Amino acid sequence: MFMINLSKYPLKGKYGNYGGKYIPETLIPAIDELAEAYEKLKKDPKFKKDFSSYLSHYAGRPTPLYFAKNLTTYAGGARIFLKREDLLHGGAHKTNNCIGQCLLAKRMGKTRIIAETGAGQHGVGTAMAASMLGLKCEVYMGALDVKRQRLNVYRMELLGAKVHTVNSGTRTLKDAINEAIRDWIINVKDTYYLIGSVVGPHPYPMIVRDFQSIIGREIKVQMNEITNSLPDILVACVGGGSNAIGTFYPFIDYSKVRLYGVEAGGMGMRSGRHAATLGAGSEGILHGMRTYILQDKDGQIKNTHSISAGLDYPGVGPQHVHLKEIKRANYVAVTDREALDAFHTLSRLEGIIPALESAHAVSYAMKLARKIGRRKDIVVTLSGRGDKDIEEVMRFTKFKR
Ligand SMILES: *Cc1c(COP(=O)(O)O)cnc(C)c1O
Repeated sequence: MFMINLSKYPLKGKYGNYGGKYIPETLIPAIDELAEAYEKLKKDPKFKKDFSSYLSHYAGRPTPLYFAKNLTTYAGGARIFLKREDLLHGGAHKTNNCIGQCLLAKRMGKTRIIAETGAGQHGVGTAMAASMLGLKCEVYMGALDVKRQRLNVYRMELLGAKVHTVNSGTRTLKDAINEAIRDWIINVKDTYYLIGSVVGPHPYPMIVRDFQSIIGREIKVQMNEITNSLPDILVACVGGGSNAIGTFYPFIDYSKVRLYGVEAGGMGMRSGRHAATLGAGSEGILHGMRTYILQDKDGQIKNTHSISAGLDYPGVGPQHVHLKEIKRANYVAVTDREALDAFHTLSRLEGIIPALESAHAVSYAMKLARKIGRRKDIVVTLSGRGDKDIEEVMRFTKFKR
């Protein structure tokens, strides 16, 4: 495909050297239409009011900021607070973005939403928001993933979405993305392509970041109510990076607040079987953006691995690469094993079963708490709840018995 970097808005879509829009010519009108609509709507009081009203009355915002006393005692150091995105409707932070983009689509006059999904979480979030806002929804999913995630396929269908099984290529997420893009090119007039993380061509990373920033804005207010000050450290897991950037973004100008993104260390960095893009990737172009990717020396995308499907992505949001390069944020990795331990620890000590993705952040937060000692406050974003992961955890835990 012929790729060009359209730079009609040269500054807006760039994070240092990263981001931009590397897209086929046929998509340029659609991307331009989206960028223009968003620029207008983000200042529109009615749009802001609608968004915030759905977030509170439909999705249940604000989510609590919970002081995890038992976890704090167990870790033996800094105080650990949990930002409870697991309590959001749908069970994860994805709902924030799906509602925001469905509202945007509606205001743009689109009647049909398409999305692609790997594990199915984003497909479910999209189906949910589309259903609530009366939009038609079709989700592309690789045949292998359809088989592995039968429950989520059924969930999407219950929510009124149509799931298209993709049988080309490796029959996984990247093939589903290709099909979704093909659909968008053909049906751009009435169709909105809803991307699930801070990835893809500009303006998607910016739009998704803005919609997820409610997480960090609430943390700021809630911490101030509890401690009368800012947190010392923020920790969030990074797949594409949307819950992390949503947590970090409102704090970026407060240089005293340290930011930690936790990637999937899989079977360990040396094994090569991980999804730690910022830790082990290099510059490249993927899914319409310049970013870090996990690639071999010929530029082929490497096979990634993580116990958590939501972190298993060979790229990462471009703004995270920039934050890493300017050393504003730190990126670390936590292995499958460590995440699994944290999953059990949080369940046992606090009565909260976290998503395996979020368990990565919890694991690193415990390590940090021990290291930095008392009289410091760490906020961990608990991106989702773990109900979806119970079977996977059972399979892993059996080995130990
Ligand atoms: C999808 C998902 C993630 C990873 O996505 P980000 O864009 O990196 O936030 C993390 N946690 C949960 C619970 C998810 O569903």
